Amino acid sequence: MATTIRTTCSYCSVGCNLDITLEEGKAPMVRPAKDYPVNLGKSCPKGFHLLAPFAAPDRALTPLIRENGSFREAGWDEAIGLFVERFRAVLDEHGPESAAFLSTGQIPMEEMALLGAVAKFGLGMVHGDGNTRQCMATAAVAYKQAFGFDAPPFTYKDFEESDLLIFVGANPAISHPIMWNRVGMNEKERTIVVVDPRRTKTADAADLHLPVAPKSDMALLYSVARELIESDRIDREFIDAHTEGFEEFAAFVKEFTLERASRETGLAREEIAGLADRIAQAKAVSIWWTMGVNQSHQAVRTAQAIINLCLITGNIGRPGTGPNSITGQANAMGSRLFSNTTSLYAGYSFTEAADRSKVASILGIDESVIPTTNSLPYHRILERVAEGSIKALWIIATNPGHSWIHKTSFFDAMKNLDFLVVQDLYATTETAQLADLFLPAAGSGEKDGSFINSERRVGVVQKIIDPPGEARSDFDIFRMIAQAAGAGELLAEWNSPDAVFRILQRLSAGRPCDITGIRGYAELLERGGIQWPYPEAARPEEGERRLFADGAFFTSNGRAKLLFSEPEPLPEPVDDEYPYLLLTGRGTVVQFHTQTRTGKVEMLNRLCPAECYVEIHPDDASLLGIRDGAKVTVTSRRGAVTVNAKIDDGVQPSQLFMPMHYAETNWLTFPAFDPYSFEPAYKAAAVRIEVAVR
Ligand code: SF4
Repeated sequence: MATTIRTTCSYCSVGCNLDITLEEGKAPMVRPAKDYPVNLGKSCPKGFHLLAPFAAPDRALTPLIRENGSFREAGWDEAIGLFVERFRAVLDEHGPESAAFLSTGQIPMEEMALLGAVAKFGLGMVHGDGNTRQCMATAAVAYKQAFGFDAPPFTYKDFEESDLLIFVGANPAISHPIMWNRVGMNEKERTIVVVDPRRTKTADAADLHLPVAPKSDMALLYSVARELIESDRIDREFIDAHTEGFEEFAAFVKEFTLERASRETGLAREEIAGLADRIAQAKAVSIWWTMGVNQSHQAVRTAQAIINLCLITGNIGRPGTGPNSITGQANAMGSRLFSNTTSLYAGYSFTEAADRSKVASILGIDESVIPTTNSLPYHRILERVAEGSIKALWIIATNPGHSWIHKTSFFDAMKNLDFLVVQDLYATTETAQLADLFLPAAGSGEKDGSFINSERRVGVVQKIIDPPGEARSDFDIFRMIAQAAGAGELLAEWNSPDAVFRILQRLSAGRPCDITGIRGYAELLERGGIQWPYPEAARPEEGERRLFADGAFFTSNGRAKLLFSEPEPLPEPVDDEYPYLLLTGRGTVVQFHTQTRTGKVEMLNRLCPAECYVEIHPDDASLLGIRDGAKVTVTSRRGAVTVNAKIDDGVQPSQLFMPMHYAETNWLTFPAFDPYSFEPAYKAAAVRIEVAVR
């Protein structure tokens, strides 16, 4: 007999729902949910193959303990016993800052919430961050500083209701294909503008592509703001009623003349003025950004330059408007709110006594178990590992051995650890290969919980199949560790995903992300997910809602802040020795991040290059005698890799592009970080390129 179960796709942050039918003797059949308000019956290729990676031959089936340099299989009792013994020993001897965890935006929020409770309240760690630091920290900080809370204001319907959509450093045609599909459903006389150094698939489909010089987008955005302010094509009423800092901002952008912006961006003055004209003339302007902004050395201020443009023109809180950050991983938004890593649950603060007291009373725990300092961000955790003061590290569902910027520094740091635990689906990842202890986990089709997508929609994750062998859900693994560490009683209520969801609801009460009105997973399934806020006292009926319709922001005075900084030069500019600027990003729609899962699906592998490649402009290729498909060596100050040349006039002369999905790319990247979000600036490194010596 056939059974059909609905779940949320566990790849990207679009949050599509898929109906998966299981029938004995047949392969699982995936059908995109027609009645789900996100994907409306569509899926990208990754969703259609959601379960395939779980059956990969290298799936980890038992815990593994390193002995004499190699892994040996172990039972759960021994593995958990070893985990607790080693972490306890380090923490007891060296204090609460000597052990840390690095988590993920890939697991359900009930699991990440439990991890935060076990690690911080149960084991007594202070430091824990997640791989959302690598993608969404910038958007979170930009919103928090400007709006008073990490609150992406949009709903996907805004793609259909805009008459001017501007994508800055975003390539949704590849990265978020079902969102891009929603853009295609826009039936207005709409205009699409793409601001990106590369002519991406999205730029190809746009009405206007502005190929800015890498990392010059701040100058462009400030100059556009200047044009609008100087010609008084701004929304004075909105500015006066709902913002602060306008006069200072207006004075600041005076310096960003068309001449200056043209010089810095490489665009013509008319193109910059033309963008200002389009914004002034459109009724509903939405500006969307992703990693081209987030992964920059001045990422937060660039995101806020987008926010400022929307605020001064009143393009927020109305249909089709908004400064809208598109999230990366399936549950990055859940991680931002409920992982208990860099902020306490629901956006409370570790450093505020009143917040700690409130959270302790909601959870019924002793306030003394809550750390009083913020966690270090990801790169500082790795620095502490490198210097030897963090001695034990627990990495969950992420693979920094592939994805960390300038990853030589990651491998060097790992050598200094006393004890490394990796918890994942596969013991074959670059990171798992370094582990002293490996814990085999279930994937998101093998367990229950919920994700929050880019538009703040809580969606259900359901178990479709059992995990293989001895693999357990991350939830079960965290529970086993809590029990063995003596925190079973402290966390007694956290005994199922459903119970944790109820705890998170309590924590959210009265917060901007209030979800107290959700009756439970059944209601989420029935209603097609529910966007926050959804407080018990209101329970709005609409299936798609945006924030700030009333112009009331979450700052103490209710006003949005206009924040800005002077643009600074690239941290690693090109020179005679390294004359090319290397950009990185997504390659194809069938590849996801480090390819830990998509790389195991034959059908997806057939649709993307098997080997790493570098895109080079035809003029540069001709100058250097490089043929299409030739082996070339790309060298930065941090390493050299040999990859295939792909001649492509989508990249500008003197620039190169390598996809992030291949292990080669991050041997080259330059370790610069945004000063507010500490997000790595993956997208600009000085390199040279030459035909490979055979
Ligand atoms: Fe999954 Fe994203 Fe593809 Fe939707 S667009 S099916 S969420 S990978």
